[in-house]
Amino acid sequence: MNTTARARALILAGIALVASACASAAPSTLSTDAVPTGAPAATPATPAKPAPRPAAYQSDDFIVTFAQSGDTPETLAARYLGGADRAWMIEDYTGLRAFAPGQEVVIPRKPWNLSGVTPGGYQIVPILTYHNLAEQAKGRLVLAASSFREQMRYLKTNGYRVVSLAAFIEFTRLNRQLPQRAVVLTFDDGYRAFKDYAYPVLKELGFTATLFVYTDWVGAGRGALSWNDLRELSAEGFDVQAHTKTHADLRRATGETEAQYARRMQVELEQPQDLFSKNLGHRSQILAYPYGRWEEGLLPKVKEHGYIAAFSVRRQGNASFVRPLTGHRSQIYAEMTLDDFVRNLNVFQEENLR
Ligand SMILES: [Zn+2]
Repeated sequence: MNTTARARALILAGIALVASACASAAPSTLSTDAVPTGAPAATPATPAKPAPRPAAYQSDDFIVTFAQSGDTPETLAARYLGGADRAWMIEDYTGLRAFAPGQEVVIPRKPWNLSGVTPGGYQIVPILTYHNLAEQAKGRLVLAASSFREQMRYLKTNGYRVVSLAAFIEFTRLNRQLPQRAVVLTFDDGYRAFKDYAYPVLKELGFTATLFVYTDWVGAGRGALSWNDLRELSAEGFDVQAHTKTHADLRRATGETEAQYARRMQVELEQPQDLFSKNLGHRSQILAYPYGRWEEGLLPKVKEHGYIAAFSVRRQGNASFVRPLTGHRSQIYAEMTLDDFVRNLNVFQEENLR
């Protein structure tokens, strides 16, 4: 029996049980508009008229309903899951984007696969890394604004769901299921161009993002975001996290003593924490390694300074079981075509796990 059939059997069995237990049994698992009215409660002597088919059958875990004309995962999520933003649950569970009128639809009410692991493989979450943007591309790291817009629209029209880095971290703790096509957006260093070119596109599409800033750069010139900009962006729901103080390689340098290294890491990892607290009212919990570089000996120091997750720029997606201090991100370069960009969006790693 497949999961949908199993869900339906469970629900119908549950409904039969509740119905037979009658109204006094406080059927908290059934919503009022959905209870089959076949079980007479107040007037058992009067034969009940045949009840119309209820709009939905509900159990704790599932809802079974019948699509109305024009229903989409969004309309059904708004009706049954408390918001259109949960449409991905219906889409991912049923594998369908559109429904015929009268078609039975099984809607999960709760997460059904927190780890993203299935017998045929596992979910991976691409975390994309951008740097600077401008009207025209320049070098590898200054992306043309038009390319960025094209990439974001591609995500939207192809069913990708941009989720926050915080949501991704919840996924690695098995506390949160992510949409199958979840993608995270990050912007490194703290360029002012984020406000000019990325922000309007992200707002238009309803996407969120994390900005990784190195604190020596914040407010350092016309090309840099200021603490005031970062406060405003935070207030609008954008996430701001640390990218060290000076943007130096965090690996222990040749000839550097353990004591010197510890002092240097104290500055690189703790000074951003002080400035975050002072200017944004919170410490940073997530770190982006400058140049994506890290080594085993660095990880205890990262942890010691309060970071719960940290990211390199190794070009691959992240499974729920990735080590949180060694997450991966994929850099998007200015010279990439749309096809190159799309190659960074793989969301499933096939592997026979039976
Ligand atoms: Zn950087």
